[in-house]
Amino acid sequence: MRTVYLDNNATTRVDPDVVRTMLPFFSDQFGNPSSMHSLGASVGASVGKARRQVQALIGAEFDDEVIFTSGGTESDNAAILSALEVMPNRAEIVTSAVEHPAVLTLCAHLERTRGVKVHTIPVDRRGRLDLDAYRVALTPKVAIVSIMWANNETGTIFPVAELADLAKEVGALFHTDAVQTVGRLPIELKSTAIDMLSLSGHKLYGPKGIGALYVRRGVAFCSLIKGGHQERDRRAGTENTPGIVGLGMAAELALKFMEDEATRVRSLRDRLEDGILQHIPNSFVAGDPLERLPNTANIAFQDIEGDAIPLLLGRVGIACSSGSACTSGSLEPSHVLRAMKMPYATVRFSFGRQNGEADVDRVLEVVPAIVERLRGPGRRSAEDRQPGPCLGSTRTGSS
Ligand SMILES: *Cc1c(COP(=O)(O)O)cnc(C)c1O
Repeated sequence: MRTVYLDNNATTRVDPDVVRTMLPFFSDQFGNPSSMHSLGASVGASVGKARRQVQALIGAEFDDEVIFTSGGTESDNAAILSALEVMPNRAEIVTSAVEHPAVLTLCAHLERTRGVKVHTIPVDRRGRLDLDAYRVALTPKVAIVSIMWANNETGTIFPVAELADLAKEVGALFHTDAVQTVGRLPIELKSTAIDMLSLSGHKLYGPKGIGALYVRRGVAFCSLIKGGHQERDRRAGTENTPGIVGLGMAAELALKFMEDEATRVRSLRDRLEDGILQHIPNSFVAGDPLERLPNTANIAFQDIEGDAIPLLLGRVGIACSSGSACTSGSLEPSHVLRAMKMPYATVRFSFGRQNGEADVDRVLEVVPAIVERLRGPGRRSAEDRQPGPCLGSTRTGSS
């Protein structure tokens, strides 16, 4: 059975050119960039090249503004924890209700253990940020604002450049989790007031376990991982050199393909969405239909439980994810859907570089029958409920 992979917001398949770039760093190019000898120096040069490739993708002014990390989660943690250290007179954080757990779980922990006050800005039914609440929360007590560039579940894009300008007015640092945005939308950091930005390799056809944190020159930074002098004392630990050169190549490819790819996936996404909305009654798009990533469709289906659809799609080789989260056997909507007051289960289809028209055709061929079956009176057999909630599909809440 051919797998139709429509879960690119959870992770992407590594590009073959990225794999090719990485392989020598497991063999001939095994040196430690910190070593004095030539083996180390040549690897160090490759790390430098990768840094410039990432710099180019995000439009940073200087290459030393890019710090390699172990991924999006570490970058988010490093940014927020650093801000609290370098701004000891400020103990408040502003974030949104729809952030990734990498930000929300950390904020909840800081609130509980360090008495940090966290302002969680709500969103409306379309997932758009409440700008009035944002303005009210911004005071000189705020150390850092952390608001994502685009949401992983709905694709909704936040106006981060404007949000950063507002944060500057009260002297707060501004961080954005751009894991879903980097490589999908053009980014020109040097023309914004954004201080820090997180990105992750495996969301842009690079390897897992590698990412980067952009820290604007002049912004004080306190390293999360203490140890040696790697990454100019901002991230200790011997560099993940295969991952770094892989991320560099992924960044170069993203920059090269971005425009064409955005147009291509948008037309695939729109065709899928139109097809579903036309043929399936009581289905609609969740999130902001205009301000959103070109690759993401999050579709709500009335009167269908939890992740029933992704589960049945999984059985016919279609990988997508549900907007529900498991809590002790019951299915609850994810924190993002709850923040949007979405009363129905949703299915997220996220397109990527390797998708084509045939993938859309396949989904449109099987989805109407699945929905009909699930909605039919008493038609949902015990067998449909196996193997239980959240198996066979990823949860959007954690990716
Ligand atoms: C995937 C994701 C992360 C986590 O990145 P990892 O590299 O998997 O740690 C953080 N934020 C968003 C928005 C994501 O989609």
